[in-house]
Amino acid sequence: TTLTSKNIIEQTDHYGANNYHPLPIVLSEAEGVWVKDPEGNKYMDMLSAYSAVNQGHRHPKIIEALKKQADRITLTSRAFHNDQLGPFYQKVSELTGKEMILPMNTGAEAVETAVKAARRWAYDVKGVAENQCDIIACVGNFHGRTMTAVSLSSDAENKQGFGPMLPGIKLIPYGDIEALKAAITPNTAAFLLEPIQGEAGIILPPEGFLKEAYDVCKKENVLFIADEIQAGLGRSGKTFACDWENVVPDMYILGKALGGGVFPISCVAANKDILSVFNPGSHGSTFGGNPLASAVSVAALEVIEEENLAERSRELGEYFQERLKGIDNPIIKEVRGKGLFVGVELYQPARPYCERLKQEGLLCKETHENVIRFAPPLVIEKEDLDWALTKIYDVFSK
Ligand code: PLP
Repeated sequence: TTLTSKNIIEQTDHYGANNYHPLPIVLSEAEGVWVKDPEGNKYMDMLSAYSAVNQGHRHPKIIEALKKQADRITLTSRAFHNDQLGPFYQKVSELTGKEMILPMNTGAEAVETAVKAARRWAYDVKGVAENQCDIIACVGNFHGRTMTAVSLSSDAENKQGFGPMLPGIKLIPYGDIEALKAAITPNTAAFLLEPIQGEAGIILPPEGFLKEAYDVCKKENVLFIADEIQAGLGRSGKTFACDWENVVPDMYILGKALGGGVFPISCVAANKDILSVFNPGSHGSTFGGNPLASAVSVAALEVIEEENLAERSRELGEYFQERLKGIDNPIIKEVRGKGLFVGVELYQPARPYCERLKQEGLLCKETHENVIRFAPPLVIEKEDLDWALTKIYDVFSK
């Protein structure tokens, strides 16, 4: 007997830890921008697994790379070399312009890697006294769920019951250049930020902030580290969200779409003066840099380039945002974003609207109570976006 959505949700709720609050829908198949539940109902995916599926679900080229590699070798550990890691490094190096890459699996692990690199850099290169360095992050940040990422968070809910937190972290208001200047001391290793805050509700920094902050960091010998895990790889309408201000960070943190929604892979990319602080034994991961992930990632990055996904995101995103701004409903406080990375902030909780959009065949998820995030796969066609807009107009005109 095939399980119904109801059975599956009951089973999942019965055995699973209660750390998520998903919409009551089961997805069992997907292609491109479309997903299906076990009953055969079709929905448009407007979340893209938090931007991990920028290339669309099951992109044929990425699936082919996965299958081909699965038939050759999947895991070697880093005790030995594998023949896929080098090409992956080269691909990411060409994309970022950085000399060195360090691969991990999830976003949070790549953030851990960035923090460890920055700390070691502070001691070994900058000359900060042992255990004295600090890292500056931003109020509203989301860098993941590991203890380091949670320690970076300003959200009490993320930290509740998980103390003690990692020391050596300072927070400044997002986009506040004066606060950044005031927070930097000779012991500051790095300024870590999302160039667009995703989980906080698609928050854009004031125009010019990225550039100014980068310049301040350069002047003060502080590393500028961009967490591009969600905003990067085409999502914001540029390859990296930092590109909007022509900023090349000292370190990129990448994840999510790096694996095309097919296989987890993350990494940091930086020049040798920073990443060569790691020596054998100082950092690693059993699965990090595995050949399956590496092969998938090369294909995933090629798709972003070959299909001009950043440009698509920019063009379609402008159109989409314009149309959203045309909705005449006083409960909408603001429509904002870059490319197809769009937040619609309401004066009331967004969840009921997500549930109504779901009934109309559109899957999206509220973020931070009052914001609906619209982030479809970047392969979306204009007709499909128009279809989505019709549904959104329907829901907001009722
Ligand atoms: N950093 C940013 C900006 C994110 O949006 C996320 C995930 O939402 C993470 C880090 C954590 O990534 P992961 O969930 O793969 O650990």
